[in-house]
Amino acid sequence: MEKDSELAQQLQEQLNRQDVGFAVKPITTCPHIPTNISSKVFIDTPCQECNELKENWQCLSCSTILCSRYVHGHMLDHFLNTKDHSVCLSYSDLSVWCFICKKYVINKGLEQVKHAAYVAKFGEEPPITSNIVIQQDDNNNNASASGSSSSK
Ligand SMILES: [Zn+2]
Ligand SMILES: [Zn+2]
Ligand SMILES: [Zn+2]
Repeated sequence: MEKDSELAQQLQEQLNRQDVGFAVKPITTCPHIPTNISSKVFIDTPCQECNELKENWQCLSCSTILCSRYVHGHMLDHFLNTKDHSVCLSYSDLSVWCFICKKYVINKGLEQVKHAAYVAKFGEEPPITSNIVIQQDDNNNNASASGSSSSK
């Protein structure tokens, strides 16, 4: 019985975690993802335009650090000025946003820099490194995660 409640708690935590950065359903393919993304991150670097430290984004095309639209929108300016630097990484929730697709992006090519950002931000490895699951749709009846095969 204790096991069940433990499992339920774990599932709840996972659900909570998924809720955080992905209010909008992310896409898995974005043609604007740069081919050579540097996995260098600059978590403590302020916005290069206004020196703001919170809510910053990293341009994945040129690694410029700029603030979000909730601050002064310098990352949006950067995209409008460059026209093609559209994919950027949020230091707030480590999500990747594409200004052209106007969607969050989850893609294998982004995992390395996201991982680096996580380590730089929290000072430790992500809790579930093997859980990089890219789901294309919701019709995935994946209820097999209940390891209750201890019927001995
Ligand atoms: Zn895109
Ligand atoms: Zn700024
Ligand atoms: Zn850029």
